[in-house]
Amino acid sequence: MISGLITKGVGGEYTVNTANGVYICTARGVFRNRQITPFVGDRVQIDPVKKSVEIIEPRKNVLKRPPVANIDQVIVTMAAASPAFHAGLLDRFLVLAGYEGVDAVICINKYDLHNREDFTVPYVLAGYPVIKVSAATGAGMDDLLAVMGGQSNASDTLSDPILNVFAGPSGVGKSSLINMLIPEAAMETGDISVKLKRGKHTTRHAEIHSLGAGFCVDTPGFSSLEVDAIPTQAFSGLFPEFAAFVGECKFSDCLHDKERDCAVKKQVGKGVHPSRYESYLGFVRR
Ligand code: GDP
Ligand code: ZN
Repeated sequence: MISGLITKGVGGEYTVNTANGVYICTARGVFRNRQITPFVGDRVQIDPVKKSVEIIEPRKNVLKRPPVANIDQVIVTMAAASPAFHAGLLDRFLVLAGYEGVDAVICINKYDLHNREDFTVPYVLAGYPVIKVSAATGAGMDDLLAVMGGQSNASDTLSDPILNVFAGPSGVGKSSLINMLIPEAAMETGDISVKLKRGKHTTRHAEIHSLGAGFCVDTPGFSSLEVDAIPTQAFSGLFPEFAAFVGECKFSDCLHDKERDCAVKKQVGKGVHPSRYESYLGFVRR
């Protein structure tokens, strides 16, 4: 048996990248009987002679639409303008990524249209990597590629490259960026209503492409934002800039809202940006 990564799955045939090359495999019969479907992103063990997927390693996470397993990092994409930057929406994407156990990188696209003050300050303070790019001019693409190879610990990523996916609201340029990085993806770009109309006739299969030091899914994930399912107590841990202070709150279950002696609230305007704290309160008071 050899281990590999499923990079594509169409019609019951799985493309598996291994150290010995690429294999086209079917799923073992027992998977079908138990209604287990291998996903793109699955780390698997294959039988190279039978050309079958024999073992699916436990999944770190699964994105639903399209189904992709084991995402390591999400490139949360927003536009500098058109559509206007929306902090609340960005925070929702960041919270969801964190809840899925996925690292987040903030990618501000359409930087060629940028003409206002820097709205990324709260996120830099929070410790998120922030990349400014333009799919129109190609500016910043080297930075984007570099961060997709991994944020830390380069030796880990070489033996086990990290899997990236783009996410973000419609119209921010995710498809344009994917096309620039992965030309063979040929994502439709442009007007949303046109895309939706055409989308009815085409089913996209997610495919993983190797990209620099990492891997990237050629289809945006995280299209639906279901933050309602996140328990109130969890939000504190999904704001990374709170981490250094939560231990000093008087109450161990402090929600950093109306509690006395809250160390997080004392940091607002210092280690915690006021706009991020406001956003946090929006989640816990919903
Ligand atoms: P998606 O819905 O996030 O996939 O966004 P698209 O990639 O379809 O892009 C939406 C629109 O923004 C298209 O008309 C693109 O041509 C345009 N666009 C994408 N990237 C840029 C950019 O960097 N600068 C400018 N000015 N326009 C862009
Ligand atoms: Zn507190």
